[in-house]
This record gives sequence, C-alpha cells and structure tokens, in this order.
Amino acid sequence: MIVGIIGGGASGMAAALSAAENENVQVVLFERQARLGRKLLATGNGRCNLSNRHLQVSCNYHGDQPEFAAPALEKYDVEETLQWFENLGLCTVAEESGRIYPFSDQANSVLDVLRFALQKPNIQVLTGFEVTKIRSNNPGFTVESSDESYVCDKLIIACGGLAGTKLGGSMSGYKLLMKLGHHCTKLRPTLVQLQSDWPHCASLKGVRAECHVAIFRNEELYASSRGEIQFTEHGLSGPVIFEVSRDVCREKGKWICRLNLLPDMQVSDKILPMLQKKRETNLAAEDLFTGILHNRLGRVVVREAGISLHAPIRQLEDWELEKACRTALELSVPLTEPMGMDSAQVTAGGIVTGEFDPETMESRIVPGLYACGEVLDIDGDCGGFNLQWAWSSGRCAGAHAGKE
Ligand SMILES: Cc1cc2nc3c(=O)[nH]c(=O)nc-3n(C[C@H](O)[C@H](O)[C@H](O)COP(=O)(O)OP(=O)(O)OC[C@H]3O[C@@H](n4cnc5c(N)ncnc54)[C@H](O)[C@@H]3O)c2cc1C
Repeated sequence: MIVGIIGGGASGMAAALSAAENENVQVVLFERQARLGRKLLATGNGRCNLSNRHLQVSCNYHGDQPEFAAPALEKYDVEETLQWFENLGLCTVAEESGRIYPFSDQANSVLDVLRFALQKPNIQVLTGFEVTKIRSNNPGFTVESSDESYVCDKLIIACGGLAGTKLGGSMSGYKLLMKLGHHCTKLRPTLVQLQSDWPHCASLKGVRAECHVAIFRNEELYASSRGEIQFTEHGLSGPVIFEVSRDVCREKGKWICRLNLLPDMQVSDKILPMLQKKRETNLAAEDLFTGILHNRLGRVVVREAGISLHAPIRQLEDWELEKACRTALELSVPLTEPMGMDSAQVTAGGIVTGEFDPETMESRIVPGLYACGEVLDIDGDCGGFNLQWAWSSGRCAGAHAGKE
C-alpha cells in the first residue's frame, strides 16, 4: 500500500514516520521546497518551542470546533510525544513556564532527528515537488506536479497554513482540499504583532520591557496579561501581545493597550522618593527614569507626562513627578490592526474540522483522504501548542492511513 503525504513540515514528517511503522506501507513524502522542515528551523526564535507541559486542550486551542483537537492530543499527549522524540534521539528540557525546547537549544536538532528517522527503506522523500493537482481515483489518488505524477492508495494533506509566507506558508493545502469538496473558514493571522500609529514606536524599536498589559476596547477592559513586550517599528510584539492577537482589533472600536511598566513596584513608597531625590542633582528630565526603566522608554514616559526633556529635575514639582509615575503605570499605546499573514506565526481558521473524523483525521467526504496540522481549523496559543498539534494530528493521521 502506498501512502502519499503532501507537505514535509512538522505534521507531514510526523505522519510519514507513523505511517511507515507498518513495514508493508510505502510512504512518499512530497515537499515543494528544496528542504524539509524549513519553517521548523525558524520556530521559537531558532530554539523550537516544540511543546508545553501545561497543555490543556480545553484552554489552549481555538477554532470553530476546538474540541476536534482532543482525541489526537489525548492519544499522542505531551508525555508520549517527548518519549517519541527521545526514541528518535532528541533530549528535551522544560522551562518553568512549561515551554519545552530541545536540550541543545537549537531548532535544527529537532529537524535533524526527524530527517534521520525518515531515512528508512519504506520512506521516499521528494523535495522540490510542488503538488498542484490531486485526482481522486476512487479508490486511490493521483498526485501531480507541473511535470510528474504519482499514484497512491491513501493521501495525507499536511501543507500547513498561510501564516509565515516567507517560510513557506501558502494557500496550497486549502485549495487542494477545497477542490476535493472540503470547505474553508475565514483565515486570519494570529500570534502576530499588533500595529500602532503611536508616534513613539520608531524611537522605541527593539526595546523590551516586563509589564502588565491591559487591552481596552472603547475603554472597556478586553484582555490582560503579564509578561515581556517588545516595541517594534510598527507597534508591539512579544509573547503577551501574541497571546491576545487572535481577537484584538477584529471588531471596530477604539483599541488601546495600557502598559504598567512598573509592575510589582511600590511606586509611592519607592519610585516616587527615588525621583524626588533626583531633585538634588543637576540632571535634566530626560534622565528622570534612568536606572529604573530602559533609557529610551524613560524618555518617552517623561514626554507623555507632558514634561520637557530639557527641564531641570530640580525645578519639577511633586505633582509633575507623581504624573510621571502615573504615566509609567499606564502608558497608553493606541492599536490599529494586527500585522499580516507574512508576519504571523499561525493561521486562525482553516479547513472545516466537522468534515473530518477527529479519531483518525480521515475525511468524511473523500474516503482515504486525511489532513493534519495547521491546514485544519485549529490553532493553539503561543508556547509550543501549535507544534504539539502538528505532532499529534500528524501521527494520528499517519497511523490510521498506514493501516491496511
Ligand atoms: C516564525 C515562526 C515561529 C514559530 N514558532 C513556533 C514555536 O516556537 N512553537 C510552536 O508550537 N509553533 C510555532 N510556530 C507555528 C508552527 O511552526 C506551525 O504551526 C507548524 O509548523 C505547522 O505544522 P504543519 O506541518 O501543519 O505546517 P508546516 O510546518 O508549515 O509545513 C507545511 C509544509 O508543506 C509544504 N507544502 C505546502 N504546500 C505544498 C504543496 N502543494 N506541495 C508540496 N509541499 C507543500 C510547505 O513547503 C511546508 O514545508 C511558528 C511559526 C512561525 C512562522
């Protein structure tokens, strides 16, 4: 029996290894790029956050039917996945936050162990092969590129989503599945930076700060979280921003992100006296927060508090220092919209999950056809949950497609 798999990313490689556990199965893995797993190398800032110890299916996954993800994530759960990786020769380590990384801290370790494992007599890897058309032969399929075609008995679509277009994200998987009778929900970028028209973005580019973040829509609290944010040329980034990016700015309204730059600090007992003490110096207001905040961020807080950067600190009144502290506690950054698909890590939306069996990943419309990973309408939170979905759904699809 021949199992064809379209897409040599995280879920496609996992599916190939699972299907090939049956030695009577010949697996053909089609990948349009020159190498397997290109996106995987870019994950986790090159460290590959491959899973998360605190995974809870009911909390960490989204889509029109997030419960679709449960059977695969429960059968191939985090423990089982780590054991699977260990059997492939990968050592992993979990951070306190629950995020799991390769012990080497290098994403290429994850890709390497997968690539080595794929070197099996019953797995054929065809890179540079872009599937442009699938013909359903009922039973079986013909998979075509612009100049070649292959016949297989079962077929797994593991083409990923549209996010990360520079790393290979494309519409391909959605289009192939839709041509076979499947439907797609609205696609939108998630785990993505939020844009702002705040005039200080450019000057703060690259600055990171540990904050409490509260997002308001029309002055009503919409979401809040605690963690690191990063200022970018276009707005705000960082894990906390990614967490909320799925839904923020989707509805019309005035969206504001309020940053508490001094979380857990005793502002009136500690910070304010520190600022008051600076009145004994000849410093200008641009140095009011020097030693407390990132210098560039401190200067923005001073300006937002309405204080001239050149004003001598010794001339500042108590109310002005109090205002500067208040500004640091609730620095308001207006939000306009999320960045686009090319900057996003993940696609929210995808092929309608109700059209697949969650226990097997097999299509309810075309027997012998399977799908896994990001192409389906499942997306996870930031923190390793998307790759865990790719491993679990890929292995589930591979195991069932590989059954005779
Ligand atoms: C910058 C970045 C960082 C990320 N970091 C993390 C992280 O740390 N942790 C985490 O959990 N998630 C992370 N993600 C998300 C995660 O990488 C994806 O959710 C995951 O890779 C999806 O797996 P997949 O197999 O469905 O798709 P992909 O890994 O995208 O693989 C799909 C493959 O199919 C190929 N393909 C597509 N169409 C065709 C075709 N027609 N013919 C042949 N081949 C085709 C593509 O070239 C690609 O190689 C990150 C994403 C990005 C962009």
